[in-house]
Order: sequence, then C-alpha cells, then structure tokens
Amino acid sequence: MRILVVEDEKKVSTFIQRGLGEEGFSVDVAFDGEEGVDKAENQTFDLILMDIMLPKKDGLAAIKELRDKQIMTPVLCLTARDSVDDKVTGLDIGADDYLAKPFAFAELVARCRALIRRGSKDRGAEIFFADLRLDPVAHKVWRSGNEIDLTSKEYALMEYFMRHPNQPLTRAMIAENVWDYTFDSFTNIIDVYVNYLRNKIDRDYDKKLIHTVRGQGYMLKEL
Ligand code: CA
Repeated sequence: MRILVVEDEKKVSTFIQRGLGEEGFSVDVAFDGEEGVDKAENQTFDLILMDIMLPKKDGLAAIKELRDKQIMTPVLCLTARDSVDDKVTGLDIGADDYLAKPFAFAELVARCRALIRRGSKDRGAEIFFADLRLDPVAHKVWRSGNEIDLTSKEYALMEYFMRHPNQPLTRAMIAENVWDYTFDSFTNIIDVYVNYLRNKIDRDYDKKLIHTVRGQGYMLKEL
C-alpha cells in the first residue's frame, strides 16, 4: 500500500513516514502543494495525506486540482487549524476525511486503513464501456481483453472519456479536465491526443468508440 504524505514540516513528515513505514506502508513525501500534485499525478498511490497549510499551493487548492484532473485517490486532510471552515471546504472539494493536528498516531493509522479499504472499493472500481475496461488504480486500459499501452496523458484522456460516456465533450472541457488549462489556443493539442488515442483504441477494431461530434468536440459512444 503506497501513501503520499504532503507536509512541509520535516519533523512531522519524518515522524509520519517512519510510523507508517513500521505499519507496513510504503511512504513517499512531498514538501509543498505543487510537488504533491505532481507526484499524485504521475505515480499511483492508495492514499494521500494532505496538510492544509503548505507553501506554493495550499492543500485545499491541491486537492481541488487533483479532483479536477480526475485523480480520485482518497485524501485525508491534516489540519492544524481547528477551523470548521477548512474541514467543510476540504470535504466539499473532494477530500475524504480530515484529522486535526496534533493527532494520536493510532488514530491516523486507523483512518488510513479505513480510507484505503473504502477507496479500493468505490474510487478504485474498474470502469467498463463496450469492450473497454479501465483500471483507475493501475492506470491500465484493455480493449477486448488486450492491454493497450498508453502514455500518462493518453490514459488521463481515456479515463475522462470513460467517466463521461455518451455525452459530447467539448475541447474546452477536455482542456480543463485533462490538462487543467483554459481553452485558448489549445485546440490543436487536444485533436492530436484524441488522434493518438484513436490509433490505439479504435484503429484495429471495426467498431469505433471515439466519435467526432461536429461543431462540439468528441464523444465516447457505441454507435
Ligand atoms: Ca504545514
């Protein structure tokens, strides 16, 4: 079980890393919000422990960014402030639970185990569409049982399609959700990536699944 700890206070992160390590977890640490988002985006974790007060990007902004990018790893917020607002906001934008500092270590471990159990049940559930299968934990995609080798961006685009089947996805929506950029002068890249994805997903199959919706964008659909 891999846990990402995003915490700028070295003493706290070392303490958590050592303690969770002794409990059998493998722990990676990021020291600011940007590094945390970067690691969560490029590696696979079973859980993220996110401090709220962080340099560069605070914990709430980091969680929102991850959820906007469709990264649904369970997040446990660590908050020093005993502020109800922080907790409510945190849960609102997609955190799964929170724990106020200072906390008892046994409590932290119990919460981690509970979230990982829950996460592997719903968040990590595989998604199926037509003969496609996507494993959001392993970041893998199969068509008709054949694994399709995707880059991380292609995978993110595929996951976005599979979480929103049968609805037109505009280039603006794709830009925002997969790249986290606004639409301006970004059309090209999206078309290029959709073509990469089509080559891998559809080219060798009679039934095409990624369709162009004229004047709108793209849609994952069967007919
Ligand atoms: Ca902090």
